[in-house]
Amino acid sequence: MVIGKTVHLSGTSREDFLADAEWVAHEQVHLRQYREHGLLPFLWKYLVESARVGYYYNKYEVEAREEARRVVLANPDHVLVPLPRHARRP
Ligand SMILES: [Zn+2]
Repeated sequence: MVIGKTVHLSGTSREDFLADAEWVAHEQVHLRQYREHGLLPFLWKYLVESARVGYYYNKYEVEAREEARRVVLANPDHVLVPLPRHARRP
């Protein structure tokens, strides 16, 4: 997960994370969302959105999932791996 300008990894290694282009692209979207909204405003909006529609349908998660998938599919050498647990439909 991203807080501010840092990707915090839990239950995975840095190497496994970096080997998964889609996951890296997903977290890069969150880094951009923090930049665009600002740290505390984004955290607040993210939490309100999660409380309203849940994690999976949170619009910031939807944006990150869709953009990450586009980034990976746009790379002709792309390799799709199973979605990380946080990105799977509940
Ligand atoms: Zn996410």
